[in-house]
Amino acid sequence: MPGDSEVYGESVLVVFSDLDGTLLDSVTYHFQPAQPALDALRASGIPLVLTSSKTRAEMEYWRRRLDNRHPFVVENGGAIYVPEGYFPFSLPGAIRREGYEVIELGRPYLELVRALDEAAEETGIPVLGFYRMRVGQIRGRAKLPLAMARLAKQREYDEPFEIRGSHPPDPLLKAIERRGLRWTRGGRFYHVMGENDKARAVSVLIEAYRRIEPELYTVGLGDALNDVEFLRLVDIAVIVRSPAADEMQAALPAARVTQAPGPEGWNEAIRSVLESCRHSEMVP
Ligand SMILES: [Mg+2]
Repeated sequence: MPGDSEVYGESVLVVFSDLDGTLLDSVTYHFQPAQPALDALRASGIPLVLTSSKTRAEMEYWRRRLDNRHPFVVENGGAIYVPEGYFPFSLPGAIRREGYEVIELGRPYLELVRALDEAAEETGIPVLGFYRMRVGQIRGRAKLPLAMARLAKQREYDEPFEIRGSHPPDPLLKAIERRGLRWTRGGRFYHVMGENDKARAVSVLIEAYRRIEPELYTVGLGDALNDVEFLRLVDIAVIVRSPAADEMQAALPAARVTQAPGPEGWNEAIRSVLESCRHSEMVP
């Protein structure tokens, strides 16, 4: 339910987590193997902030499935949604919308679509973005049920795309940068976006939590390159096993890497973090 809120309960620990390939299985989108760790977080009152490239519509679906009532980050940091009343103060620059305080960090979607088209034309590298994909094509590529593919198409701040054929991506990515935009790569798609990234959104939220709990300790989990920047910000960075794990670890030498991919790895990592925090009496 939009805005269905709880109040931040002064936990010293906050967990920021990617969804696809991290908390959700990259193929089946199941999260059940992570249920013991999800239950343990809830029992200790530790916020779980979902930090994804998914749209708000998709995130609301997953928050319901996960019974999560904490703030969340959509579309690679395009916006932060905080349930109204979650923090005992208003966040700077937030606008009120449907039970949330929303901080928009991204650029308007149609601007991104236009710039991607221009970059493709300029470099002769053909692309196919979600804007021009039919829902059925998104469903096939992202292996999503049709209803979920429809939610994935409701984009506001980030355009996922694929490069058609076997072109080297660099000239296209440079052409995107020349337009003052950024790009990243998730588990399945490239993404074009404004000055936002997950890290900027996560840092806004860490600052908000720290206003209440100055000793805040942060954990982050991710499985792809679009997670590296926010994983640099947290006290404990966890790379959930994936084909990008080695590349990520080169950028994050202090990060832990799970043995298992997806929700099994997530479960393993959170349980071990909670175990070590219990030893230091950070969590009950
Ligand atoms: Mg991912």
